[in-house]
Amino acid sequence: MDITEIITRSALVRSKIPDVEYVINPYLGCGHGCLYCYAAFMRRYSHHHAQFRWGTFVEVKVNIVEILRAELSRKRKAGTVLLSSVCDPYQPVEMRYRLTRQCIELLGEFGWGIDILTRSPLVTRDIDLFSSMSRISVGISIPTDSDRIRKILEPTSPPIKSRLAALKQLHEAGVDTWAFIGPLLPMNPRNLYKALNPYVNHVYIDSLNYRDKVRNVFIRNRWDYEFTDDYALKTGDELIRMFNDRAQRV
Ligand code: SF4
Repeated sequence: MDITEIITRSALVRSKIPDVEYVINPYLGCGHGCLYCYAAFMRRYSHHHAQFRWGTFVEVKVNIVEILRAELSRKRKAGTVLLSSVCDPYQPVEMRYRLTRQCIELLGEFGWGIDILTRSPLVTRDIDLFSSMSRISVGISIPTDSDRIRKILEPTSPPIKSRLAALKQLHEAGVDTWAFIGPLLPMNPRNLYKALNPYVNHVYIDSLNYRDKVRNVFIRNRWDYEFTDDYALKTGDELIRMFNDRAQRV
């Protein structure tokens, strides 16, 4: 993993994602390197890693906390922010730099609402922070119940079991927890429902949107049906039926 420290000029970015006001990405790049990742286009904003394979580099915005403090001080009212939209805020490098934790501390100090989305159980490190904040929710991406599938499509991301354990721990600590089932990977929807159901207040479901990135992987593994719109539609419907009014498509 090539890790480079960089200086950023902004922290809060206005979002175009529905229902998301601002986003913060403390890192450019992502150590999880999911094969289907929609965020790989971020390489074009890199001065150091434009030619690198997604998942093999991370740029650390070492001054982001300082910039965020200045931006928050200039805002007339508190808003809401998602961490993160084009990187995982709890990817391995966060263990060393703690930028996500410091951003959350600061946002809490200024009374902002925070939604977190990650694939990593490292998020449980910050339960002490979440417990002291009123406007926070934590979502964990779990796009399949199968660790065999995870190993093929997200080879360097944390095991499914560890994500479920993290959700349990957060939920039991009283944190508002949710799951992002996206993109819909090959799965047994009933098993995924059973695993998530006790520990989430909501689930959000999304299809595989950037299919060309993984077309060959699906073909090689004979997941022909799982590659179709019909699979996404039926699996999404089944999950929505099971989770009832706690599930929605994004
Ligand atoms: S964790 Fe998210 S941002 Fe990181 S590689 Fe996977 S999909 Fe992309």
